[in-house]
Amino acid sequence: MTRKALIAGNWKMHLTVKEACTLANEVIKALPAERDDREVLIAPPFTALQAVGKTLTSSRVLLSGQNVCWEEKGPFTGEIAPGMLKDCGATHAIIGHSERRQIFHESDEMINNRVTGALKHGIRPVLCIGETLEEREAERTFAVLEAQVKAGLTGVTHEEMEAVVIAYEPVWAIGTGKTASKEQAQNAHAFIREVIIKLYEKTVAEKLRILYGGSVKPTNIDALMSQPDIDGALVGGAALDGVSFARIINFTV
Ligand code: PEP
Repeated sequence: MTRKALIAGNWKMHLTVKEACTLANEVIKALPAERDDREVLIAPPFTALQAVGKTLTSSRVLLSGQNVCWEEKGPFTGEIAPGMLKDCGATHAIIGHSERRQIFHESDEMINNRVTGALKHGIRPVLCIGETLEEREAERTFAVLEAQVKAGLTGVTHEEMEAVVIAYEPVWAIGTGKTASKEQAQNAHAFIREVIIKLYEKTVAEKLRILYGGSVKPTNIDALMSQPDIDGALVGGAALDGVSFARIINFTV
């Protein structure tokens, strides 16, 4: 089955509102109308979400939060509710990014709350999972991925899985310039799809988009996208450069 490719840019804690709108306009220009076999998603910092949402109006480029709370409102200082993301025009939220897991100590349980809360309120989760270098070297990659998938998707129904995207991001490849080889990435993606078959069923797994993230660049995107289980990319550093991200969006296989 063919899955529509998804190229997502995570702008992390970069860019002023003005810079974010300028880059958003470059992304709009980089996605030609005839490229209807792919979707593009950008995740600006929260301060620029509303302005970038306006910039994207009547374009095909989708908007994402970099995180989302599970509650609709209340005493959650520093958090952003799903309805607030929707109010800015966002359709997606990145959840469980390794920087949230490692620097801010977000637990599997918290990440699961974010996933189910997002789904309940109509935001599509981009659930990030991935092993550390230590875990890979100890040959625990598959065990870690299986545990993170199971924990992250606890309570998510078959129907809700239609809205879920998984991003495989080996921690050792994020922002380090080290990319997983296309074979390493493909093996991990195929394994994740097998886990989804076990947890749900084949039709759910076949429809699920699994993105690769970790030093994706113009020079490696074509090879990564040539793999059968790699359905797109979650891009950090290279998404901040309009020219590089345009090349990534326009990957060819
Ligand atoms: C990321 O932020 O999810 C990421 C993969 O970053 P980079 O592309 O810079 O490795």
